[in-house]
Amino acid sequence: MRRTIVAGNWKMNTTPAQGVELLEGVAAIKGEAKASVELIVGVPFTHICAVGKAAQGTGIAIAAQNCADHAKGAYTGEVSAEMLASMGVEYVILGHSERREYYGETSETLNKKIELVYQNGMSPIYCIGEKQQEREANRQNEVCRAQIQEVVFNLTPEQFEKLIIAYEPVWAIGTGLTATDDQAQEIHHYIRQVLAEKFGEQAASKCPILYGGSCKPSNAKGLFEKADVDGGLIGGASLNAQDFVGIAKAF
Ligand code: PGA
Repeated sequence: MRRTIVAGNWKMNTTPAQGVELLEGVAAIKGEAKASVELIVGVPFTHICAVGKAAQGTGIAIAAQNCADHAKGAYTGEVSAEMLASMGVEYVILGHSERREYYGETSETLNKKIELVYQNGMSPIYCIGEKQQEREANRQNEVCRAQIQEVVFNLTPEQFEKLIIAYEPVWAIGTGLTATDDQAQEIHHYIRQVLAEKFGEQAASKCPILYGGSCKPSNAKGLFEKADVDGGLIGGASLNAQDFVGIAKAF
């Protein structure tokens, strides 16, 4: 049995006060979803203190959306993995396509970040996925394989056990376009095969692989019913408590 996870990615939205309200809204109705579905909210750095406090005792875990690629020192404006861990953050979203695209995140920086996340006792939610032109050229497998080989293959088996992968086709993020249930299953299955090449069938069969990209309550059920889809990384719909929990209820 694999973990089932619904993780929100609030991106650069809400003030801390609005974030607390959103968290409280989720906490109030999360009982409608199965207790076995793990809920995580990926909040802006500025919200970690207040939202983390509001999340205490609710069973909802806090994720950050990024961390620095250095441990500490003269890196103005950066936030270290150690700082995040000291605030009770349990997960760090790494390699989101927006960070790869707008902030020049490469496998080289991601290798440093992922290592720091582990060193500080947190778990990465590592995002991969192809762009529209790559999908049109039927290169999605190749792209995802490279994103895995260049980063995930450097992990130790112990580190791999704590990894969560999010497959997010870039053409489906915030566009209203979703991968079909079969497209999602096909590539999730492929990703798991690639993971098995390095870490073995058994370890790969335990790795949660989340789907992301315009996931909402109306399409979550079909996606989550697929054998290799273990949950979602939710952007837009995670900003509404009903929708976010509605997605969790699809399990
Ligand atoms: P979306 O974003 O659900 O708004 O498409 C998903 C993500 O970028 O994680």
